[in-house]
Amino acid sequence: MSTIDWANLGFGYMKTDFNVRCYYRNGKWGEIEASDSEYIPLHIAATALHYGQEAFEGLKAFRGKDGQIRIFRLEDNALRMQSSSRGILMAEVPVDIFSNAVKKAVKLNERFVPPYGSGAALYIRPLLIGSGPQVGVRPAEEYLFLVFVTPVGPYFKAGFKPTPVMVTREFDRAAPQGTGNIKVGGNYAASLRAGVKAHALGYSAVLYLDPKEKKYIDECGPANFYGIKNNCYITPASSSILPSITNKSLMQLAEDMGLTIERRRVSFEELATFEEAGQCGTAAVISPIERIDDADNGTSFVYSKDGEPGPVSKNLYQKLRAIQYGDDVDPYGWITIVD
Ligand SMILES: *Cc1c(COP(=O)(O)O)cnc(C)c1O
Repeated sequence: MSTIDWANLGFGYMKTDFNVRCYYRNGKWGEIEASDSEYIPLHIAATALHYGQEAFEGLKAFRGKDGQIRIFRLEDNALRMQSSSRGILMAEVPVDIFSNAVKKAVKLNERFVPPYGSGAALYIRPLLIGSGPQVGVRPAEEYLFLVFVTPVGPYFKAGFKPTPVMVTREFDRAAPQGTGNIKVGGNYAASLRAGVKAHALGYSAVLYLDPKEKKYIDECGPANFYGIKNNCYITPASSSILPSITNKSLMQLAEDMGLTIERRRVSFEELATFEEAGQCGTAAVISPIERIDDADNGTSFVYSKDGEPGPVSKNLYQKLRAIQYGDDVDPYGWITIVD
């Protein structure tokens, strides 16, 4: 094959050769199996379908100049999926099963890992669902853990450019003591109406306020928020934010570049004081914010007037990408080489 146009890939699903699966039955996890089917046989009363027992992860593998394949922060994703399991009472996937399943899925689909220099990467999607039947509302007794991969293109086809985001008080994606801090599909279902509305109005995302008081910044739909001012990297702390592994990595890099890190509540008014702002997550690493429009009262906070990202965002973006592709050494132990 090798007829894939790597530079023009989008962020979508493409069939690869194999996915891997592992079942939890009778209180224990079974063997990791490879499958070439894109379908799963599922009981019609599976709890994932009726009561939302579903969690997922998203991480990437990158091919370096040396041809080696590097998976970024594999163990952190395994631990986060365990935290999601505890949040909605699903069986926890042990770290070694998670890691071996991901490595196997990458290895079996090696030919789909984009070449170095294309800007593309292999997106890895681990999924955990309650597969056992229940009609009463209670946790399933059987679970399916599966991992599929799909090559995805460079997020910024036209270069690393800022986009506008919008604030609205019309919708919440998570509740204060709800499931906003774990990576479950229900949060995404709850974000669809706001997300589709924002895209239709020309925004890249919705920036959510805290669901209780609507006074503080939470995060952007599928990405965390940060602001930069006075050589300080500031990112919100809140019980309804998903702990982004990209954000955690950027905090480490920012600290090592000499910035001060503040993880604390960020009031809506403080948006006026930032020199730069960005969204961060696995898909883009950083998506710089051009401006934030308050859709409810017409005010705006502008961070980029010339269509270019700020210097701190640019440095952080380049540094993290260099580690992911193996251009820079990884002093943090973030990379797992697939061999
Ligand atoms: C996955 C996710 C993020 C980004 O996390 P990364 O680990 O950086 O990819 C941010 N917010 C939400 C709600 C998410 O689900």
